[in-house]
Amino acid sequence: MTTTEEFHALLGDLSEVPADYIRDVAWTKRVLERWSTDRAFRERYAADPAQALAQIAAPLTPEQVRPFIDESAAVTDTDTLPRSARRYRAFLREKLAFRAGIRTEGEAADPRMAAWRRRQLKRCAGELGAGRSEAIVHAPAAFELSKGCTVGCWFCGVAAPKFDHTWRYTDDHATLWRDTLTTMRGIVGDPLRQSFLYWATDPLDNPDYEHFLTDFHRVLGRCPQTTTAIGHKDTERTRALLRLAAAHGSVIDRFSIIALSALNRLHEAFTAEELLRVECVPQNKEAAKPYAKSNAGRARRFAHKRGDELVPDDDSSTIACVSGFLLNMTDRSVRLVTPCDASDRWPLGYWVLGEGTFDTAAELGELLEDLIATRMRTRLRLTDPVRLRRDLDVTVADGRLTATARGQRLTVTDQPDPDDLADLLTRGTDTAEEFALHRERRSSVPLTHTLAWLGGLFDNGLLDEEPAPALVLEPAAS
Ligand code: SF4
Repeated sequence: MTTTEEFHALLGDLSEVPADYIRDVAWTKRVLERWSTDRAFRERYAADPAQALAQIAAPLTPEQVRPFIDESAAVTDTDTLPRSARRYRAFLREKLAFRAGIRTEGEAADPRMAAWRRRQLKRCAGELGAGRSEAIVHAPAAFELSKGCTVGCWFCGVAAPKFDHTWRYTDDHATLWRDTLTTMRGIVGDPLRQSFLYWATDPLDNPDYEHFLTDFHRVLGRCPQTTTAIGHKDTERTRALLRLAAAHGSVIDRFSIIALSALNRLHEAFTAEELLRVECVPQNKEAAKPYAKSNAGRARRFAHKRGDELVPDDDSSTIACVSGFLLNMTDRSVRLVTPCDASDRWPLGYWVLGEGTFDTAAELGELLEDLIATRMRTRLRLTDPVRLRRDLDVTVADGRLTATARGQRLTVTDQPDPDDLADLLTRGTDTAEEFALHRERRSSVPLTHTLAWLGGLFDNGLLDEEPAPALVLEPAAS
């Protein structure tokens, strides 16, 4: 499909995209992967860019990649860029638009879940700041098909425990799997397609992953995205998986590059064009500085030793991207989660609002209904305690109340007695009804006015909904 006279969409059918167009984008991507992952390449490139590109057989000149490597060459006037760079930029824009589309299309069919998710998006924008929160798609579900992960990354943002066992595609499991998806589709609706089959697991640890993926496509009509850190181990399996995913219309997959040798192996085994829609995410120790890891999960334990590889303390950290249900199929457990800034209270970078287990799809349906009914408020009730979120810094000056977070600011100029208002909003001892009665008695603000105002704060994710932290959240490091 052509988006303009010059640019082609690359996330759909490629059959009509000229080969030179794909080559330009795929090779620009490959050079940047090499540059961002390989310190020795960066040094060679700094010394002699043309020779460094020739050594990796890149059919590009330094001028074609410089706008993405050298900040001073990153021009905003697209017309002055080489054609290949304009094509690559268009690809980046297409991927951003795709991600934004997932966020906006992700509202569950159940109106209670939809309202709750909308509020979590707003809360995250305030708590995490614009940059990090916009990168979170708030998928409605993720499914773990193993217990633990064989990879054991020191920086694992969800602190995956050591691999224990996996969930094979037996007849019984296959039936439960399809019934699970069907049951959840009945609640979540089409957005369930945005789910993926890993969390604190690597999908390729399950030898039957491809069967589960195929069933997912059969039931939901979309191929789930794959992210793996072991795609380099058995490249023939990986090649077959990429072909299977492409045949099912997969859009973007990801290889997490935890060692330079893994990138070398992948670049040897796959052409640049084959990896056009597979992002290689630099996680290795030689990675360029901009690829800092979230200070979440197991990484928090290494902050004293490897702090220079982590996102700084004054920035937010989480790798969680689900506002919805986290299922582990090995123990048939469900947790209701939503991202938050990782902290000592929430080291894994997500809240757990409720959990349970199930044996059958019918029990799963009942459990999900219970979690939705009891943990996903659609509006502020009279009996709900009211307090602003803890990350909001509240000040009163010149008759104005201001509450500021990383990505959100509330300014109140039209309410009497702002000091009293600030006190009520931060102490958190009053229910919505008590709050409104207090304001009516003390400051003559009509009860209905205060209740409507508090309801607006709640809908905008400004009121504290943080659950009590679970007792054990972080498994032992492997
Ligand atoms: S980051 Fe991914 S691959 Fe690494 S230990 Fe965690 S779940 Fe496993």
